[in-house]
Amino acid sequence: MAKVLINNSYIVTGDQNNTIIPRGCIVIEQGRIVAVTSGEFIDPSNFDLVIDGTNTLTMPGLINAHHHSYANLVKGMNPTVPLEQWMLYTMALGGLLTPEDMYWNALAGAMEMLRSGTTSCMDHLAQGFEAIDGAMQAYRDIGLRVTMAPMISDKPYHATLPIAEDALPPELKNQGAPTAQELVATTVALYEKWHTKGSRLHVAFGPSGPQRCTDELLKECGNQARLLDTAIHTHVLESKAQARTAEFLYGKPMLFHLDEMGCLSERTSLVHSVWINDREMKLAADRGAVVVHNPSSNLLIGSGIAPVIKCREMGVPVALGTDGANVSGSLSMFDSMKLAGLIHNRPDLPQEAWLQPQDVLEMVASHAPKVLLEKDLGRIAPGQKADLVLLNLENPSLTPLNNACWQLVYAEPTSAVETVLVQGEPVLLQGKLMRISEKRILEEAARRGERIRNAFAEKHHDQVLRKAAMIRKACSF
Ligand SMILES: [Zn+2]
Repeated sequence: MAKVLINNSYIVTGDQNNTIIPRGCIVIEQGRIVAVTSGEFIDPSNFDLVIDGTNTLTMPGLINAHHHSYANLVKGMNPTVPLEQWMLYTMALGGLLTPEDMYWNALAGAMEMLRSGTTSCMDHLAQGFEAIDGAMQAYRDIGLRVTMAPMISDKPYHATLPIAEDALPPELKNQGAPTAQELVATTVALYEKWHTKGSRLHVAFGPSGPQRCTDELLKECGNQARLLDTAIHTHVLESKAQARTAEFLYGKPMLFHLDEMGCLSERTSLVHSVWINDREMKLAADRGAVVVHNPSSNLLIGSGIAPVIKCREMGVPVALGTDGANVSGSLSMFDSMKLAGLIHNRPDLPQEAWLQPQDVLEMVASHAPKVLLEKDLGRIAPGQKADLVLLNLENPSLTPLNNACWQLVYAEPTSAVETVLVQGEPVLLQGKLMRISEKRILEEAARRGERIRNAFAEKHHDQVLRKAAMIRKACSF
């Protein structure tokens, strides 16, 4: 799609001044925005595609800065329990997924994200080369922009808890783990196959969490990310137990350990950071790292409420994500934006500190691109990559349009998403996926979900329930 014109749209540019163009045009060439005009129409001849923007609002494509695509086929199958128990279900379910499932998993999530205005995501996906390779193929087929951070860990699960090994029942101690060298080699192999500058697909390093990795693995992730000029994405301080784990394993706060391992820099995104302390916030700000806030996930499994206002005050950029569908329910970034805009405004804080809708838009437009190490994303301006969302203004959430910024954050306009462009290409056009059959994705997701559900109920459910009871007892502090 060489030349595209969006004519006569209401444009929310996403720039620092929150500029709005009530009636404007966007010219796209070779996947980038080359002109944004106000007022006049542009002659539609000489374009390969002209999109009539009448009665639409065009905004920068949303970036989901934390997602796990394995979770799309297994949503609804974890009980509502704290993370340390929740993970037992997730590990058992993950073991039932085939590489082919991962292809359809990624497509199901990508479809839901495109339908809700997300044009890029950070996918933190466990499993081996073949499964992740399948997910990358899915993203290439559907057209979403993705950075894949293979989720790697070289410690058995029990060694990641703040509990002495001899205090754990034997049933919780029988898992092995791959070596650091194997895990790094897999990530590098995926990088070599898929990471191409200028394309939509990238590969980053994804140590699952500092406490889940040996020092050797963390150091190698830091070294390789620098060498290959790519990102580091890791879960940090999601639960209260993890804050205890840092003291238990290292005798110091988690981010100080991550920093000593060479893994804390402007390349690093710190997922959750619910239990981050003030000294760690200062360190993260000094190193230029980004926090990724996932309000649905934190609320659903009772992890706590991340100190988002304090992080921002201390100079730490905060991006937003959904987390996996099995811990967020929905992959709509409008859901995340609304929750982020609501849950931090507490009566014990001065009202001047409360998040305003423009602060939430700043998270998705200005801060999220830092997670992907993308400099040319997040704004509607000449030179930017043309990742755009068009919302139908004839929708209850946006009618009457009194305050676009406020309504985008609080009115939850997912159902208004109509057209989505990634790199200037319409991958969703007037509600229709352009590259792949939505019906086929839904059929495959339903069929595969049923198989996994039955296998879990027959072979794993009772055992996981027993282990979860043990973890609950061991982590009751
Ligand atoms: Zn996660």
